Amino acid sequence: MAKIGIDPGHGGSDPGALAANGLQEKEVTLAVSLVLQQLLQAAGVEVIMSRTGDQDVSLADRVALFNRENVDLIMSIHVNSAGTPEPNYISTFILAAGGQAEKIALLLQPQLVAATGWPDGGVREANFYILRETDAPAVLAEMGFISNPATADILATQAGQQTLARAIFRGLALYLDLQLSEPRDIQGHWAEAAIRQVMAAGVMGGYPDGSFRPDQAATRAELAAALARVLQKLEH
Ligand SMILES: [Zn+2]
Repeated sequence: MAKIGIDPGHGGSDPGALAANGLQEKEVTLAVSLVLQQLLQAAGVEVIMSRTGDQDVSLADRVALFNRENVDLIMSIHVNSAGTPEPNYISTFILAAGGQAEKIALLLQPQLVAATGWPDGGVREANFYILRETDAPAVLAEMGFISNPATADILATQAGQQTLARAIFRGLALYLDLQLSEPRDIQGHWAEAAIRQVMAAGVMGGYPDGSFRPDQAATRAELAAALARVLQKLEH
């Protein structure tokens, strides 16, 4: 069974970056991390959290925890910030190309872009402490720019936080071969081809337990979310 370290950036006396709407980076990173933890645990993955509340945890303590727990990979979660409101891309950071971290990042980044519709900042290299000092492969998601007002409004909502968590989960699931792209309950269904098509396009997803539940009714909100993802794709 896989063992994953989740690292919600900042916390406690360190708020991280701040948005004009009052949102603090540490709130977003924790909210997304807690949803991601649930999704991974539901899929049978063991999760080690560097923090589960609003507390101070030093970078050294985070690294020591993950190394001591001998995790298989580390997912560090942050939100970017700039001095001007314009930048709004989403990107994934690794220490260096050529290893397992790059492999994870190359699976994760397209999921983040597809789920958010934000401009693709790509996979980037950075000499971040958490990426450098951990024994296991580590990737760090910068989930858009909190300094971009439209992005900050999305990051402040539970729906936005869940969208990001699910995208990270899908990326990690692809790497861990959790086979979530192949739900077990669509074979032979009259809509099997259509379901495969919308899943491949990232318009709709399966459940963390590996089911799609093809005959479950969708709410108007779920239908609107799926149609919005189609519209986003048409605009790009
Ligand atoms: Zn940060």
